[in-house]
Amino acid sequence: MARLTVYGARGSFPVFGDAYRRYGGQTSCFAVENDQGILVIDAGTGIRDLGQQLNELKVLPPITILFTHLHLDHLLGLAAFKPLLRRDAKITFMGDAKVHGDWPRVLQGLISAPYWPVDLIHMGAELSFTPLPAKGPLALYGHEIRSCPISHPQGCLGYRIESGKRSLVIATDYEIGEEMFDRGFAAFAKGADILVHDAQYTPDDYGAHKGWGHCTWQHAVETAERVGSKELILTSHDPVRTDEAVDRLLAAARARFPKSAAATPGMTLDLSQ
Ligand SMILES: [Zn+2]
Repeated sequence: MARLTVYGARGSFPVFGDAYRRYGGQTSCFAVENDQGILVIDAGTGIRDLGQQLNELKVLPPITILFTHLHLDHLLGLAAFKPLLRRDAKITFMGDAKVHGDWPRVLQGLISAPYWPVDLIHMGAELSFTPLPAKGPLALYGHEIRSCPISHPQGCLGYRIESGKRSLVIATDYEIGEEMFDRGFAAFAKGADILVHDAQYTPDDYGAHKGWGHCTWQHAVETAERVGSKELILTSHDPVRTDEAVDRLLAAARARFPKSAAATPGMTLDLSQ
């Protein structure tokens, strides 16, 4: 059985406090788990909670971490990912130089002096830094994984994961409106059962944030309709968006696309049926 679990759905920066209890303050982190391994997408602060859970296990599964992009909110939790400290852990990082540049250097630079007391490569786990295949899907843990460039400052990847019976597309940071990207993404995401999509803004606050690399719930709904997805999961909640404000954003999306939900830590979706 494969399942998707959300560990962090906040965009831009972590937030804390009573106003954010239900949709959480942890930044971007998703995991697709089955009996062959754990595929992690993004290492925002949500990855710390995943790491705490994995650290309870006597025998760790193989772990692969993919990144949508390298903005800080997608990396902030990595240093606190407990399996990095275990000598029995095998962790593979994967990236695409076309979009992420010299990403192994970026990761190793971020988790090293003066930013962190222990270098990433000396934390204990056996690490590998592997490029995503230049062509064709990546076959891993029984999944077929594809990536697609989407419009965001410095570039970003969307991922499509075919697993079991259901297909999943994740596009955490994506500003709709550049036809070249939108056409490519529409073909890439076509027919996805589950679409996890950026919905950082409302149509009201988008005007002041045009060009910042995110879109509105309305754009997310239009994309879900365009690609014919069955379920839409809204993510990258703006740091200013309290639980009540996410509820209002979600209600507006549901009025147009009833099978919408807002990503929240602990949410799980079965991909096998
Ligand atoms: Zn970003």
